[in-house]
Amino acid sequence: MTDTGVEPDRVSGLLGEETERFRATHPESAKLFERARSSLLGGVPMPWMTQWAGSYPVFVAEASGARFSDVDGNEYADFCLGDTGAMAGHAPLATADALARQSLEGTTLMLPTEDSVWVGEELERRFGLPFWQFALTATDANRFVLRLARAITDRPKVVVHSWCYHGTVDETFAIYEDGATRPRPGSIGAPVDPAVTTRAVEFNDVDALEEALAPGDVACVLCEPALTNMGIVLPDAGYHDALRELTQRHGTLLVIDETHTICAGPGGYTRAHDLHPDFLTIGKPIAGGVPAAAYGMSREVADRALADRRIAEESDIGGIGGTLSGNALSLAAVRATLESVLTDEAFDAMIALGKRFEEGAAGAIAAARLPWSVTRLGCRVEYHFTQQPPSSGAEAHAAVDHELERYLHLHALNRGILMTPFHNMALMCPATSEEAVDLHTRAFTEALESLSAA
Ligand code: PMP
Repeated sequence: MTDTGVEPDRVSGLLGEETERFRATHPESAKLFERARSSLLGGVPMPWMTQWAGSYPVFVAEASGARFSDVDGNEYADFCLGDTGAMAGHAPLATADALARQSLEGTTLMLPTEDSVWVGEELERRFGLPFWQFALTATDANRFVLRLARAITDRPKVVVHSWCYHGTVDETFAIYEDGATRPRPGSIGAPVDPAVTTRAVEFNDVDALEEALAPGDVACVLCEPALTNMGIVLPDAGYHDALRELTQRHGTLLVIDETHTICAGPGGYTRAHDLHPDFLTIGKPIAGGVPAAAYGMSREVADRALADRRIAEESDIGGIGGTLSGNALSLAAVRATLESVLTDEAFDAMIALGKRFEEGAAGAIAAARLPWSVTRLGCRVEYHFTQQPPSSGAEAHAAVDHELERYLHLHALNRGILMTPFHNMALMCPATSEEAVDLHTRAFTEALESLSAA
């Protein structure tokens, strides 16, 4: 484990104090959690909700913009934003209006509405890819693209980055360890050993990528343009050029998952850095928090897909589907969110706030003389317990310190600040204020002082 510059004993003492404070200020959440234990598995709607830093999850009363309140009347500045699902802010008015209107005009029909055409055109304007399809989650968008890529290329394998996350997609639960592709620790009930379907390579490792593609059996590389799920890991200069050149040379399709990296700008990392993938997937924030996802493809890929008779003839039961995919309600929400909420101008303000957050966090780290670093990608910021930001999934994983992370999260939570669980990430939305960012800076400074106090 990396040396974080902090005494582990000191962290557990402080964590104990914060846990007591959490219990004292969240009695109603405690009661609801107790009640939920008899109807919900583990007392939570989803198993990962037990992993929040408190003794039990905070039950939400209501949310708007960049804030929410809980059932105990506590107020929070939300930098988690539903782990990007609420990157448009909570209850954005334009999206809420569109949802109200569309819910009275029909929710799902298995027929297109005009909104689907508008959204396809807008996604082309943002990401540069001409043809689009819809799904309900980023997971599904990725699953459908993997199927299309295998069908088009007639190749079996997928390459991913070690310690990536692309949703609950079987092929992606793979890491690179001791010279081989192995199951990611914690993967539940995998259908086959992922080495059968997948080659995992470290992010930023061009030689490993070349080796993985060389056998000529890889349908596609599925990747985030910067890792965001094991902390933020930015690409080295030239990595994306190499990725594009190598995939093209080996007849492998390049799939960029922009679900989180949309934080880099209105057209994601792809437009901000002029990338040219064959496929692009995106979910989470595009419908203002309502389930919706999309995948786009180049003209060449679209031609190859349409030329494959299986794809047209078996499309109702061919493994690419979802009865509710592309439904009228989701697409009305996507249109309103892209047209009026996650606009080009909104990103300028969000990215400026991201810089302010980054400067505040970096200042606190410098003042506490801790060997930590801060990384920013547009309006997303992450702090790492290492002097140099990690440059691969393995490095980022080696720098994880659960206890320290838990303390920082709970310290923040007890002061009305919600960070993204699992690592140290903060995201800005159009409604985030400078005051909220400064609140975090003050609380973080105080937390770091408590860690370094003798
Ligand atoms: N892609 C990326 C990059 C993600 O971070 C996630 C979820 N964290 C997903 C896909 C899956 O999103 P969902 O759970 O909404 O399907």
